[in-house]
Amino acid sequence: MSADLNIFITETEIAGADDGPLAGKTVAVKDNISTEGVRTTCGSAMLDDYVPPYDATVVERLADAGADVVGKANMDEFGMGTTTETSAFGATRNPVDPERVPGGSSGGSAAAVAAGEADLALGSDTGGSVRCPAAFCGVVGIKPTYGLVSRYGLVAYANSLEQIGPIGNTVEDAAALLDAIAGPDPNDATTRDEGADSNYAAAADGDVDGMTIGVPTELFEGADEGVVETVEAAIDDLEAQGAETVEVSLPSVEHAVEAYYVIAMSEASSNLARFDGVRYGHSAGHEGNWNETFAGTREEGFGAEVKRRILLGTYALSAGYHDKYYKKAQDARAWIRQDFEETFADVDVIASPTMPVKPFELGEGLEDPLKLYLADANTTPVNLANLPAISVPAGESEGLPVGLQLIGPQFGEERIVRAASAVEE
Ligand code: GLN
Repeated sequence: MSADLNIFITETEIAGADDGPLAGKTVAVKDNISTEGVRTTCGSAMLDDYVPPYDATVVERLADAGADVVGKANMDEFGMGTTTETSAFGATRNPVDPERVPGGSSGGSAAAVAAGEADLALGSDTGGSVRCPAAFCGVVGIKPTYGLVSRYGLVAYANSLEQIGPIGNTVEDAAALLDAIAGPDPNDATTRDEGADSNYAAAADGDVDGMTIGVPTELFEGADEGVVETVEAAIDDLEAQGAETVEVSLPSVEHAVEAYYVIAMSEASSNLARFDGVRYGHSAGHEGNWNETFAGTREEGFGAEVKRRILLGTYALSAGYHDKYYKKAQDARAWIRQDFEETFADVDVIASPTMPVKPFELGEGLEDPLKLYLADANTTPVNLANLPAISVPAGESEGLPVGLQLIGPQFGEERIVRAASAVEE
């Protein structure tokens, strides 16, 4: 079964410590997270035979916590995608319906948990890549506050936006994995002390009595009807458990997708410049001059979506266009951050559909990148504002899983874990 689903790029047996909070648990690790001595491809032909000389901080912490890494999970190439179809190693299929995508870009990670190939998984979330596949595969995924989890050893796509995040079958499982990986790291200067002593697993107590949940109209507009119904039913259920819901408005999020893609592609064009066939990765040989070798290597090594993003990102940063695109996107980002900040003065958490759509059929989005970009409408605002969010299964629509997203203020992971655990009750 799992071979058909194409979940792992490389199967591994990296044993953790004999005891610890995750002793005996198996973990799938997204293939953009460095594992010493074990091939780490980022789903790209460019890094087909790249073997990192060191472990990512999160991998060291998994080992300390007693977890065993059983595989490097398939992903969209360099994290660029929403379906896990841009991988050079072929698409991963959704365990719930193998004719559909598992979501992306951490599709292999979520599918591993949903298919029972691993108890837990790590993904990375730049604009939704943990929450989207969690929603599509019917499991739980958390995108932590920017700075809660070390990015040391994560191959960068857009470093001002991304965080490594946990995936599990239950809120408590995902929270326990977050406990194991969270906290400051001298190797990542963007990590912070906040949250280091928290006990997220203990927060999964299902107690939403007196909690205020903001429901932003903008994040429901344009969503699939079955998705909206399922999510609204889950929110009603939280109300029945003692939470209070209030309608809120986040007018800025209308600009999130465009701001996200300008910033993400700009950062990607710079981050991916290192893959030149000399320092890292695939090389087309040294027959021509420098420019020919560089171009040849990148022509062969990168897939179409990655090339599109490097080109657009380079354009957005170039002289004359920087103010028109990149600076405008940064202004929108500041507005979105402020919009959330003001809303969190009145509510404890914010609820929305994780994805406005149900899992795509395989091949459905490949010809239409814009359609896939627009599906990131509800996840990207969270990355732009550096906030934490969780996707928890809300139920099904036409037999397909639907995820409810709960967003918290910075370092408000305990709140979203608590609210999400009540959804499971
Ligand atoms: N779908 C988004 C993108 O393609 C998100 C990816 C991610 O979070 N890595 O950029």
